[in-house]
Amino acid sequence: MTDILTRSQPGPQDILKKVFGYTQFRGHQEAIIESIHHKKDTLVLMPTGGGKSLCYQIPALMASGITLVISPLIALMKDQVEALKQHGIGAAFINSTQDYREQEAILRQIELGEIKLLYVAPERLFSDNTSFVSFLKRQSISLVAIDEAHCISQWGHDFRPEYLKLGEMKALFQQEFPVMALTATADKLTRQDIVEKLHLSDPNVFVSSFNRENIQYHILPKNQQYEQLLQFLNQHKEESGIIYCLSRKSTEQLAERLAYEGFSAKPYHAGLEIGVKNKHQEDFIKDDVKIIVATIAFGMGIDKSNVRYVVHMDLPKNIESYYQETGRAGRDGLSSQAVLFYGYGDVARLQYFISIEGNEDQTRIMTEKLETMARFCEINTCRRQFLLRYFDEDFPDHCGGCDICLNTVETFDGTVIAQMALSAVARLNQRYGISYVIDFLRGSRSQKIKEDDRKLKTFGKGAHLSKNEWKNYIGELVRQHYLELEKGMYPVLKLNDASWRVLKKGEKVRLGQIQNNWFAESVPETQNYEKPLYDQLLQLRKDWAKAQDLPPYMIFSDATLKDLATYLPLHEWQLYKINGFGQVKVNRYGRPVMALIKKYCEENGISGSWHQPPVSKQPAKDTGGLSDTHRDTLQCFRNGMSIARIAAHRMLTISTIESHMARLIQFGEIKINEVMDQKRVDIIQQKLANNQNFGLKPIKESLPREITYGQIRMVIGFVEYQKTQNSV
Ligand code: ADP
Ligand code: ZN
Repeated sequence: MTDILTRSQPGPQDILKKVFGYTQFRGHQEAIIESIHHKKDTLVLMPTGGGKSLCYQIPALMASGITLVISPLIALMKDQVEALKQHGIGAAFINSTQDYREQEAILRQIELGEIKLLYVAPERLFSDNTSFVSFLKRQSISLVAIDEAHCISQWGHDFRPEYLKLGEMKALFQQEFPVMALTATADKLTRQDIVEKLHLSDPNVFVSSFNRENIQYHILPKNQQYEQLLQFLNQHKEESGIIYCLSRKSTEQLAERLAYEGFSAKPYHAGLEIGVKNKHQEDFIKDDVKIIVATIAFGMGIDKSNVRYVVHMDLPKNIESYYQETGRAGRDGLSSQAVLFYGYGDVARLQYFISIEGNEDQTRIMTEKLETMARFCEINTCRRQFLLRYFDEDFPDHCGGCDICLNTVETFDGTVIAQMALSAVARLNQRYGISYVIDFLRGSRSQKIKEDDRKLKTFGKGAHLSKNEWKNYIGELVRQHYLELEKGMYPVLKLNDASWRVLKKGEKVRLGQIQNNWFAESVPETQNYEKPLYDQLLQLRKDWAKAQDLPPYMIFSDATLKDLATYLPLHEWQLYKINGFGQVKVNRYGRPVMALIKKYCEENGISGSWHQPPVSKQPAKDTGGLSDTHRDTLQCFRNGMSIARIAAHRMLTISTIESHMARLIQFGEIKINEVMDQKRVDIIQQKLANNQNFGLKPIKESLPREITYGQIRMVIGFVEYQKTQNSV
């Protein structure tokens, strides 16, 4: 292995290909590597799954000395080192889990030049025992990479005092080397703090987009929650996912219930016995358990790349947590889902939890964050835009990958229903909470309803609707601020000005109804890979993983297996074109993989189906609104593929590809008439002009049936494009 790297001077691109088996850099990776090559201190802000590790791993392989990687998470260290070894790279870690002899053996390897990357926990570096530092002083250090660099900042959510000492590193090792700080925490305060505390000198700063485009965001009302969850899980039976619950008890109850229904699910929370906890985590990572039902204690230090969905059964406390937790889905870049069940009751309940007695400032900040979280669930505009704006990033108002943009929420004229609910609250003198009002509306015989209240005019007027429907509608009225829910342990419904406008002036209210089968619709089977072959490859990977006691995703990602089952490589040169096959992996696993594919092709009469995976010619750069994925779609389109074929080919949904097309049209890369005839453009454009700011739904409804949402979005892109043309 070291041969290919030392004989000649390989460039970053060669290493990317030969060692890691990837065809192109993502985002800023190449520029970051370049920055280190020029010995500049460098700050890297990239979301989870963005590909931070390669940014220091490739420079480590290009330099002659050793690269130190400082990481606070011991579990992750081991994973990273294992993954590097899988690529044939000399890597090791030093931390408190090893005994003296193990550590000694590693020091010897370093002296022999066998180690290119050494992972170290910060406390190990600054322990009282200085012999380790003296040892490192004698080595030539080519780069120090500081992972999870936000740990140095009190502003961050994960402050670690031992990180503060990292600022003195250059003095400590008495030599010059560039420092790279990496984090997935975006906010400006933390960013500044990192630069200051680490004493980075005039650093190059690389900020990536925090958009996780392969994650779809969905908010569902919190009623019939379990039934909705089952429906979702049934659509994702073979996939891995995390389900977050607020309480320890509910993780255990839900895991048990799901197991009873035949799902492979285990609980995880900080209160479980350590042995049990570790076993459940291990089983999940190794794909032996599909679903982990956990409190937020689960996730830190989990690198599993094939988590296909994250479900929140309860509202997270703030957007930061939500973003971080949902971000654990889809590290491998394949399409993934984030589903959150939202009930107005959660806000009141959490408010109670986050209040810190005697600390009003902190309580106020937490309350604001909670309210923003609730607003995220209540908006009728693109969720992704809201998320990214929260992190100071601009984003257009249609992502094509959230429940709003996918239009899974239908609305209808709900004025009469609203009036019924509001007048019930009025007649009950605004003294009761939701469940009493619902029982009252439905004319319940329950003893709970007071005798006097039974005599009121509205009693039993809403018996035609079920309890759940009422829950849904009242929740909706609260969200739209036609009703207020007073905070506290027993929240009471109150009227406001808007309520009276509806009651007295007949102001129209629109209520929403989630389409029941959105799960089925949102995940169309557009992936045209050979599913039986994919399953066989999964099994093969699992066997190899078992034999080496490694998590399967570390041998190959799911994305690599899907590529294999799509492109069916039968020769070694073809294998090199598959993302994830570097030299070592081709040598180690190539033959059996190709043998399996060959057998499958023969048995199924498939021949000569090799076609090259698409590689975009453009270097991976952020070109003001168009990212690599847009360019990949463009490339496919230029190769003559239809939208449906591109979707199948890229293993993305049709609506994602349509949103790419809309973007490409907006930026003038594709002409609208390449995808639609002028007559259709005119019809849509006219409707758009007449109907502004009411969302796509009314526009869609006013157009002929065969016109799709995707086509409307493309025309919106076209209108935007025209604007830019007119303004120059
Ligand atoms: P982060 O540390 O930013 O969360 P990782 O470094 O773990 O992300 O990378 C996430 C995944 O993306 C890994 O499976 C990694 O191998 C893969 N990856 C990184 N860079 C590339 C690339 N240029 N092409 C293809 N896959 C990549
Ligand atoms: Zn959206």
